[in-house]
Amino acid sequence: MSALSDLPLRADLVGRSPYGAPQLDVAVRLNTNENSYPVPEPVVAAIADAVAAQLRDLNRYPDREAVALRADLAAYLGHGLGADGVWAANGSNEVQQQLLQAFGGPGRVALGFTPGYSMHPLLALGTGTRWVGVPRGDGFGLTADEAVAAVREHAPDLVFLCSPNNPTGTALDPAVVTAVLAVAPGMVVVDEAYAEFARPGTVSALSLLPAHPRLVVTRTMSKAFGFAGGRLGYLAAAPAVVDAVQLVRLPYHLSALTQAAARAVLAHAGLLLATVDAIKEQRDRIVTRLRERGHRVADSDANFVLFSVGGDQASAWRTLLDHGVLVRDVGLPGWLRVTAGTPAETDAFLAAVESL
Ligand SMILES: *Cc1c(COP(=O)(O)O)cnc(C)c1O
Repeated sequence: MSALSDLPLRADLVGRSPYGAPQLDVAVRLNTNENSYPVPEPVVAAIADAVAAQLRDLNRYPDREAVALRADLAAYLGHGLGADGVWAANGSNEVQQQLLQAFGGPGRVALGFTPGYSMHPLLALGTGTRWVGVPRGDGFGLTADEAVAAVREHAPDLVFLCSPNNPTGTALDPAVVTAVLAVAPGMVVVDEAYAEFARPGTVSALSLLPAHPRLVVTRTMSKAFGFAGGRLGYLAAAPAVVDAVQLVRLPYHLSALTQAAARAVLAHAGLLLATVDAIKEQRDRIVTRLRERGHRVADSDANFVLFSVGGDQASAWRTLLDHGVLVRDVGLPGWLRVTAGTPAETDAFLAAVESL
């Protein structure tokens, strides 16, 4: 048997570990920002019917362009978008990988602000794009001046902005996006995976699309729609951006089953998004209680909360685990991230926190 070290692996991949949070068999798992609510029965039935209707035709390749699904996604987003301004793939991670394949690559640079979504640098690595991580200031905010200075200094081919930001949870002021757009020499990607959870008054970067042909907004059905297992992410941008990603996408990348299931889910958007309000309530409950206990807590527009533990986060993580609650150590000294889920999960988390 040959070991990985015996294989002629790319030098830049040697010694790397695959992405993944440790998934432990614990009663309360609040570490991956999934939607805690199972798919509602009427939606289960609709998915089953939609998938069943495809089965006899699985000898044929699916619609390579996924036009019907993209039209449904555009209708969901609004903002005057049509199918030509929307592109879909197996999760927004694949969409972002396609963006890096099209606009990044060897000799090119992608820039993001840290702490940020840990997949962005990994997708850059996989596509041979050099990654520049620019640290955020105290409190994890990002001002237009800071963002503009970083973009001017590094002149990246792609800028990744995450709003609401993972792991901190706070949405970005659209003025920061506009300021970056004004100076960025390349593409600007705003990752809005958690947009549906934002606090009232939060403005989506979708509203900036008509004036900015190099802006791309990525979204996902993994979080608010509770469709993480279905794997469906998408982008909204100028139609020329959709033309660009089609140059690098695999033929037939979205299976007929995925397209049918995602369309069935979108047809029940109202029912599914009802869980978003319930989750936001738990999110706000967690924020309030942690602040009462004296933790520092980042403002959250997402379905998770980043909080300080007043000491070593690895031992705090272990203490919570010993009390049956799995949260995420995102590698930020002194901080942990917890996903907001059901009221019972919040009860368990807040009870465990008492032992910190
Ligand atoms: C969870 C998450 C995603 C979702 O990725 P999918 O591939 O769509 O499941 C994207 N961006 C961020 C910042 C996330 O936290």
